[in-house]
Amino acid sequence: MTDMANDNIHEDDLPEQIGSCVACGTTIRDGDDYLSCIDGDMMCRNCSPTYQDILDNPTHLWQADTEMPFTQKEAQVFVNAHLSQGGKLTDKATS
Ligand SMILES: [Zn+2]
Repeated sequence: MTDMANDNIHEDDLPEQIGSCVACGTTIRDGDDYLSCIDGDMMCRNCSPTYQDILDNPTHLWQADTEMPFTQKEAQVFVNAHLSQGGKLTDKATS
C-alpha cells in the first residue's frame, strides 16, 4: 500500500499531534493524557493539576460537558467520584 501524502516516514510511529502544552510547550499527541483548559488551551500530564489542586482552585478548571468552570461544590463531587473509584488526591486530573 502506498500513501503519497505521508512522506514523514520517521514520524509514522507517532500519533497525530493535537496541540501543545500551554505551560511547558510539550507536544500533545492523540492518545496522550492531557487537560483541556477553559479557553481552549491544553496542558500536558506533567503540568495538569492534581485532584487536590482542583479542590484548592475549582474555578480554574473547565468542565468538558457543560463548558463551565467548576463551583466548589461541583469540584468536591468530581473529586469524591475519583476517590470512590480508588483514586488519590495526588493523582493528575487528566481525562
Ligand atoms: Zn506541560
